[in-house]
Amino acid sequence: MSETNNGSQPVCPDVFKTLITHHTQLRSVFPGETTGALAPRPLPFNRPSFDQMYMAIAEIVALRSTCLRGQVGAVITKDTRVVSIGYNGAPSKIGQCDQYGCIVDSEKGGCIRTIHAEQNAIAYASRVGIPLENATLYVTISPCIDCAKLIIASGIKRLVYLQEYRNSYALEYLRLSGLEVEHLNYGLNAIYNEYYSQGTSECR
Ligand SMILES: [Zn+2]
Ligand SMILES: [Zn+2]
Repeated sequence: MSETNNGSQPVCPDVFKTLITHHTQLRSVFPGETTGALAPRPLPFNRPSFDQMYMAIAEIVALRSTCLRGQVGAVITKDTRVVSIGYNGAPSKIGQCDQYGCIVDSEKGGCIRTIHAEQNAIAYASRVGIPLENATLYVTISPCIDCAKLIIASGIKRLVYLQEYRNSYALEYLRLSGLEVEHLNYGLNAIYNEYYSQGTSECR
């Protein structure tokens, strides 16, 4: 928007004059960058992708698991930020498997005592009022069929898993429901080998 001075030269309001001044200063400090005239330099750091970073975090979360039948970690993100985490463990007022032992379902074979990592992550988001529509779930082992159903119902739209669970039909169930399902063979070990084992961390 601009005002006119007797219909001749446009007169900028003060706010536009300030913006123009700032932009002029910016161009003098970063010559070429603001006009696109300079080619960017090669990237100085080799960085993990968001998927790689969050899968590595999910592997760390898995270390909190208490069920003796499997350590699993889950991380839920929205717009590239973590909104919830979960791991295999019993509710806080029920004894944990690592102290009292697993209670195995004689029909299905799973541990009755434990809440699965994905369920814990989704339930926490529900508890504190975080909608999971279009969220991404990172999980260290692909979901069982019960978790798959909960994932679909929660609105999560993308699943990234590190290892495949023994009953992989849950992955097909997720795909059929419209979820984007990806296998990522890159986790904590890969992060360590690529970024920390070469003695370069002192520069960070
Ligand atoms: Zn257990
Ligand atoms: Zn499950």
